[in-house]
Amino acid sequence: MAAKGPQFNLDHEVVYGAVEQLSPMVRRVTAENPGKFTFQGTGTYIIGNGRVAIVDPGPVDTNHVEALLAAVEGETVTHLLITHTHGDHSPAAALLQEHIDAPTWGFGPHPIARPDPDAPIDPERGLGFGFDQEEPEPEQRSSDDGAEDTSPKHDEGYQAADANDWDFSPDEVVTHGQVIDGDGWSVEALHTPGHISNHLCFALREELSMFSGDHVMGWSTTVIPPPDGSLNSYLDSLQLLIGRNETVYHPTHGAPITDPQQLVPALLAHRKARTEQILACLNDGLATIKDIVLRMYTHVPKELYNPAGASVMSHLLALHEIDKVHCSDDEPGPRSLYTLTG
Ligand SMILES: [Zn+2]
Repeated sequence: MAAKGPQFNLDHEVVYGAVEQLSPMVRRVTAENPGKFTFQGTGTYIIGNGRVAIVDPGPVDTNHVEALLAAVEGETVTHLLITHTHGDHSPAAALLQEHIDAPTWGFGPHPIARPDPDAPIDPERGLGFGFDQEEPEPEQRSSDDGAEDTSPKHDEGYQAADANDWDFSPDEVVTHGQVIDGDGWSVEALHTPGHISNHLCFALREELSMFSGDHVMGWSTTVIPPPDGSLNSYLDSLQLLIGRNETVYHPTHGAPITDPQQLVPALLAHRKARTEQILACLNDGLATIKDIVLRMYTHVPKELYNPAGASVMSHLLALHEIDKVHCSDDEPGPRSLYTLTG
């Protein structure tokens, strides 16, 4: 089987609405929106003391907004820092701004247009990989690769179009490498597209820590949802972090990551190993996502075939982008035929 994958940490207990002091300059308040993409919920961070920044205010949830306002009572919020425009990260910024006078800082508005709610549903779109109900039940999951295959279930974001904050537009547009100075704190913004093209990480220079958003999480791999997600960009954005001097990452979901310079290369290696497996399938003449999933994911239960298909598709799109793979259709889709070039 594949080499040992990234070591995920599922040990994360939170008290919703409470203020948790994580370091001299960082506090966290967690929203009660646990789920298969959000783990225990959205962790909203407060940076500094007295004149503070809030990182990712969170989902539309008045209880969470009230908890945040209580957490900063007697203080002044000077900045709202936004890692990206998913529905569990940015929407509460607008709710906070009804109470406080702080601008939002982000890379840009949501990168894709809001879908037309009146548009007819195209049955060919989405997860139509063509798995049959009669597909044979997989063999029992073997113990040696259990950890490896926990990842595809988190790739179901493929279709979660309602998980987007269509309305967000930053008051202050942040560029890669920009340093944002607060009162006693400063963060360096890193543009880290992949999960979504407007993703930023914020490095807190005084504590050598990083707010890593959904780019690097300690509990799970990151979803690369089409059409805006890009595996090639994601890999570049992981590479960008290697060799940096931050010693702790604070992801939006899950516990602090205390070994980022081990985890980030492991995440990179994990995706590269997947790419190699897919290239081997293509080399053996498998041409559909369905057939590749049935070959590669023999030990996962059937209900994970579609998310596994979404993961395979993100790799094929990445290989197509760099001309390593031909596609039978102009626009690569879930039922296209894929072949190696050259
Ligand atoms: Zn996200």
